[in-house]
Amino acid sequence: MELSKLVQDELDDLVNIYKHLHENPELSHEEKESSKLVAGQLETCGISVTRNFGGHGVVGILENGEGPTVMVRGDMDALPITENTGLDYASTARGKDPSGNDSGVMHACGHDVHMTTLVGTARVLSKSKDSWNGKIIFIGQPAEEAMSGARLMIEKGLFENFGAPDYCLATHVIPKLEAGNIMVKSGPIMAGTYQLKITVRGVGGHGAIPQECIDPVVLAARIVTSLQTIVSREFSPLDPAVVTVGSIHGGTRANIIPGEVIMEVTARFCNDEGHNRIFESVKRICKYEALSMGLSEDLLPIVEFDDESDLPATTNDSGLAEIVRRAAGEYLGEDKVHEAEMVMGSEDFSLFRTAGRKETPSCLFFTGATSAEEMDLFHEKGINPPSLHNSKFFPPPEPTIKTAVTTMAGTILKILS
Ligand code: ZN
Ligand code: ZN
Repeated sequence: MELSKLVQDELDDLVNIYKHLHENPELSHEEKESSKLVAGQLETCGISVTRNFGGHGVVGILENGEGPTVMVRGDMDALPITENTGLDYASTARGKDPSGNDSGVMHACGHDVHMTTLVGTARVLSKSKDSWNGKIIFIGQPAEEAMSGARLMIEKGLFENFGAPDYCLATHVIPKLEAGNIMVKSGPIMAGTYQLKITVRGVGGHGAIPQECIDPVVLAARIVTSLQTIVSREFSPLDPAVVTVGSIHGGTRANIIPGEVIMEVTARFCNDEGHNRIFESVKRICKYEALSMGLSEDLLPIVEFDDESDLPATTNDSGLAEIVRRAAGEYLGEDKVHEAEMVMGSEDFSLFRTAGRKETPSCLFFTGATSAEEMDLFHEKGINPPSLHNSKFFPPPEPTIKTAVTTMAGTILKILS
């Protein structure tokens, strides 16, 4: 049967699944019911499923003769945001934010669409086994927002236990694109990232006797300013990168020069060179700013690299991106396929690309997630549609899910037929 017809036949049911997931979001590492639903849905497609693989991770294997292995990943977690969409299927769930405060819980990043896309793709491909050969690994991934779910599954032995894929695919909804459309690009599509913690030390004392102290507040301020030159002066203007000091804490009251100031930095980059350059430059700037204030070697700032937060850029294989373009062009129409711009947000999907013995050709495409009406408002009045992680964000279910499933299943059919 033709792909578009297969997707259309499943659509009502998929929308119901989507609305249920939307109404019942679960925070990172707590995706118990969501993963159960995804696992159960995959099983009804005749897929062999392993549950709770790396936290609440789900692994479904669909084998159909000799051929390449394609992995499809859908992330499952929601965010500590109180939903403000006014939908009749809006979430009223509550949970705790990372600081332990009570909060609403919401699928404000569209991972409910991603789970539904995984299920829809499984349904369509299990019903069209006569038109493909190979193996498909369906991944329900936990804790994407915590940037730790992919790592959990990989470290648990995902590739060793289920076989390393030849290709990895994922999609993410994007509000700046009208539903019914997709965007993709070759090369980096989302930035790599890591976090640094900088402990700026000084010599504390009385606020009125600075000459007997070395003030870490002044030093921290200098470092923050100097860090701005990494991107502006050390990177090519054509090589996107970000260095943001998002947190700075020091001191207790006005008349005390404190002993230290703690800063947290997020780095964004699109290749290994950028990854290394930012880290080396931060260390260099911290060291020489401190020396210039007369600090001794034993009191230089301590720059700590947070390994857990270290993610490479999400980089699309050009051949695979071309297959996504062709599939979307054929099944949605050429006018629905657009060239994506790189986004400086990050994704732990990138870890699947680098986890194998050699790099695995991977592609993440963006699925449009704003209704035509809202898009018109955007174009007429310049009002931005609510972004991801906004309490008012919601995609129109039918066209969003239809587009994501059609593109994903169409791409896999092109690879495996
Ligand atoms: Zn998100
Ligand atoms: Zn997301």
